[in-house]
Amino acid sequence: MKVIEHFKRAESTLFSIEILPPVKGSSIQSVFNGIDPLVEFKPAFVDVTYHREEYLIRKGRNGEYRKVLTRKRPGTVGISAAIKNRYNVDTVPHIICGGFSKEETENALLDLHFLGIDNVLALRGDSLKDERVFVPDPDGHYFASELVEQIVSMNKGKYLDDKIVKPDPTDFCIGVAGYPEKHFEAENLNSDLQFLKHKVDLGAEYIVTQMFFDNTKFFQFVDKCREIGITVPIVPGIKPLSTLKHIEILPKLFYTDFPEPLMAELKKCKSNDDVKAVGTEWGIAQCRELIEHNVPCLHFYTMGKSETTRRIAEGVF
Ligand code: FAD
Repeated sequence: MKVIEHFKRAESTLFSIEILPPVKGSSIQSVFNGIDPLVEFKPAFVDVTYHREEYLIRKGRNGEYRKVLTRKRPGTVGISAAIKNRYNVDTVPHIICGGFSKEETENALLDLHFLGIDNVLALRGDSLKDERVFVPDPDGHYFASELVEQIVSMNKGKYLDDKIVKPDPTDFCIGVAGYPEKHFEAENLNSDLQFLKHKVDLGAEYIVTQMFFDNTKFFQFVDKCREIGITVPIVPGIKPLSTLKHIEILPKLFYTDFPEPLMAELKKCKSNDDVKAVGTEWGIAQCRELIEHNVPCLHFYTMGKSETTRRIAEGVF
């Protein structure tokens, strides 16, 4: 079923999760181990992230060093199908612009279509680690909006090769990303919101937000979206805090603020268990308030680790 159908049919706030494909060499069981403890909360859908290629420096036969491209977490299409089959749950593979030509995007979407996966989250993707700005594939898309356009075209039966006779239209429900604290590259929140509206106007049917810890920012973001005419469901992204490392890296990687009261508690933490306790308490309070505001769904960034998500879900569902 399409994500948007889940929202239409729901009588209360839904639960959904996002997982990472396993690193190359790990078994699919490592993914299932991260989902199994959350199944009792009946996730409406499971998102599977996509990870860009990375450059590695390798020593060649003649002792010279060269840059080679590698992907540490391949397999989004296969993982999405495996999760769908095992749990009978809808999966939402993430499709990104970076590293893909339009033709490769078309082929990936066709694989999903053949597998009966009819949800995608359309994203630009981040730049490569050693690139200061995002560089698209020479025949790829620069912005997520262009990717939305390509998927909408396929939903209308328009493929890149317009000479295909009687093309089979796809039927994807398209989600896109939104940023309550502004995308880090955007000139300001208003321009970011206008570009978000553009993605929706082109055919995106719902928005999932970047993680945030301050509900006030989410509520203001939703109000601003509504003011400019964005009417689609907006799903808050929840990050369960569970390690000391999270305190250091999350604001840097995701450009999100820790509100003062949360930071005061995090500063007292000496171990990962301390962070889990603080993260659980904060997450429960945050989610309860979001539910009171009738959000359509709480989307948990589990990153394959279920413990704190489970504790929060126990406290709110
Ligand atoms: P866009 O919507 O293209 O926006 C990118 C920037 O360009 C913004 O600053 C926007 O304001 C600006 N912009 C947009 N259109 C225009 C225009 N026409 N002219 C000028 N400026 C414009 N990354 C991954 O690599 N893999 C994932 O699986 C993944 N999953 C994610 C899931 C969620 C829910 C979220 C919130 C993010 C995810 N990301 C993922 C990260 C995301 O790819 C990055 O944040 C990326 O930098 C921006 O992606 P976007 O789709 O929001 O881009």
